[in-house]
Amino acid sequence: MEIRIGQGYDVHAIAEGLPMWLGGVRIPSRTGFVAHSDGDVAIHALCDALLGALALGDIGHLFPDTDDRWKGVDSKELLAAVLALPEYRDWRVVNADITIALQAPKLAPHIDAMRSTLAGVMGIGAERVSVKATTTEKLGFVGRREGCEVWAIVLIEQK
Ligand code: MG
Repeated sequence: MEIRIGQGYDVHAIAEGLPMWLGGVRIPSRTGFVAHSDGDVAIHALCDALLGALALGDIGHLFPDTDDRWKGVDSKELLAAVLALPEYRDWRVVNADITIALQAPKLAPHIDAMRSTLAGVMGIGAERVSVKATTTEKLGFVGRREGCEVWAIVLIEQK
C-alpha cells in the first residue's frame, strides 16, 4: 500500500469590513481576508497540500482567480472539488495538520468547529484533523495584522 505526503502554504492580506473565513468557519471579526474567493486561507493551504501529495500542481492552477466561476466561492467547494478529482479516486486522507498564524482575533474558540467542518468535507473523523493557531508575537506582517499565514500537511493512503 502506497502512502503520500503533501504540504501547502498560503497567505492572504487582511482588510477592514471583509468577512473572515478560516477552516470553513465564519470567524466574528471586523476584519477579513482580501481574495477572489471567500479568502479561506486555511482551506487554500489544505487544498495545496492535497494537490501536492499527488503532484497535481496548485490551487491557483486549478481554480484561477481570472475565472469568474470562483469569484466569492465558498472554499469548502474548492476542497471538495480537489478530492473529487479523478486522480483522487483511489486515495483517502489519513490525517491533516494545519497551523494558522494570525495576530487577532483569538482563534481558540473556533478550533473545534474548524476541525469538524474540514473533516466533514474530507469525509474523515475530526480526530484526524488538527488545527493549531499561533500569533507571531507581533512580529512581521502577521504581527502587524497585515495578513494571515497558514501551513498544512496531509498524509494520504491508497484505498
Ligand atoms: Mg489563497
